[in-house]
Amino acid sequence: MSTHQGNLVVYNSLSGQKEKFEPIHTNHVGMYVCGPTLYSEPHMGNMRTFINFDMIYRYLLVLGYKVKYVRNITDAGHITNSLGEAVDSIGNAARLEQMQSLEIVYKYNVKFQELQRIYNLLPPSIEPTATGHIQEQIEHIEKIIENGFAYVVNGSVYFDVKKYSEKYEYGILSGRKVDELAEETRVLNAQDEKRFFADFALWKKANPEDMQIWRSPWGDGNPGWHIECTAMSTKYLGSHFDIHGGGMDLKFPHHEDEIAQNCGSLGCNPAKYWLHANMLNVNGQKMSKSLGNYFLPKEIVDGTTELFDKPYSPNVIRFFMMQAQYRSNLDFTSDALNAAEKGFTRMSDAVLLISKLKTSATSSFNVDELIASFYEAMNDDFNTSILVANLFEAVKRINLINDGNDTITTQDLAKLETEMLRFIYDVLGLQILTENSNEKLAPVMDLVIDLRQQARENKDWTTSDKIRDGLAAAGITIKDGKEGTSWG
Ligand code: AMP
Ligand code: ZN
Repeated sequence: MSTHQGNLVVYNSLSGQKEKFEPIHTNHVGMYVCGPTLYSEPHMGNMRTFINFDMIYRYLLVLGYKVKYVRNITDAGHITNSLGEAVDSIGNAARLEQMQSLEIVYKYNVKFQELQRIYNLLPPSIEPTATGHIQEQIEHIEKIIENGFAYVVNGSVYFDVKKYSEKYEYGILSGRKVDELAEETRVLNAQDEKRFFADFALWKKANPEDMQIWRSPWGDGNPGWHIECTAMSTKYLGSHFDIHGGGMDLKFPHHEDEIAQNCGSLGCNPAKYWLHANMLNVNGQKMSKSLGNYFLPKEIVDGTTELFDKPYSPNVIRFFMMQAQYRSNLDFTSDALNAAEKGFTRMSDAVLLISKLKTSATSSFNVDELIASFYEAMNDDFNTSILVANLFEAVKRINLINDGNDTITTQDLAKLETEMLRFIYDVLGLQILTENSNEKLAPVMDLVIDLRQQARENKDWTTSDKIRDGLAAAGITIKDGKEGTSWG
């Protein structure tokens, strides 16, 4: 167990405050994060959230916790759109691409897994799917009905928000109160099956055009969107676990409704700490599929998005994201990315230099204090922004020692190297190619670029794309320019 374990403080969206992190079971952490809906390739904004939770997972591991990290894949269910309507996004995509629903999900899951390799995300302990847990979802719905918090109408089941509010606090997470919600009431039309507009679907009766249909006690249909997370978090982490995470935009209605379902079924809020990552913006606006202001995580690495005039390596992008704390929003701009590229190179150079430094009889600065500042930053609600600044303090020292203006003992240098690498590699998830491996790589890369050039001349685009994608997965970007192909 790390001595730093007891010092972690996290911002709990449930209380709106920073709280001391005390797991329910000593030394063990259960963490559930809402995963992607795979009807299309995740965009860069989605990736920011997954990268942020990867960083949180990594830091918990560094603190010595045994972490069970569950991140689901949404491959079924009706998502609620901004008008509160149920939309079968996977079915819609399947129809458009003339594929079966699970074919669509599989296609984009292959891409998602590749993105995780490119951006160096650790695999979660388990990635369960909604379609693999229909039975568990039905059982939760049955319990909610049994407890009097849901009603059946014409083959669909709805959560009864008003009834629930008599016993529990609907809005406990998002702060949206039923009374205030009522102000926003759209008039329920005659076809509306809901008793109250804030009620939400737990089960939707099948439509003739639905591509995925399951049997249930209420007839053929589909689960609502929120119930899958209740079913899967309970199955893998129990009815009350430590951390539930996701993007800020999921607070309402998704997470609010998850809490209602869990209380309605099992009588308790599923998670002790609710963590929400902030959004990736484009010109101040949330990146989203529906606004069309998105780019794909592969495009920025390949240099194929018109938004940027050059490609950036996944390490630079990850470094750029880590410069912001997970709760602050972040805007992608060329200037900021170019600055991050310079910063990452500076950090990489220092890492390559550290083992070559000359040591002295004394250290001219307090190395223990510097190392402690890395932990302090992360212990303050995973503040990677401060961590990066503190790592640059170490970079400055390394350069000063190299120039003979600072001194360090052998013992202190070993400590500093261990801790810097721990935070850069294990916590921030960055990969730094050593000079040595770059030197060794050069002739190999000449050969690979040559083979790709031949493939392109033969119009064998499959092979040339495969080479480019394979290199990207290994963290190497290639760019075709006037003077030939360069890599880095
Ligand atoms: P979805 O596939 O839409 O369910 O989203 C997957 C995850 O990405 C969720 O945790 C969302 O909150 C998150 N997300 C969606 N848009 C953004 C964005 N622009 N910035 C950061 N996270 C996002
Ligand atoms: Zn969820």
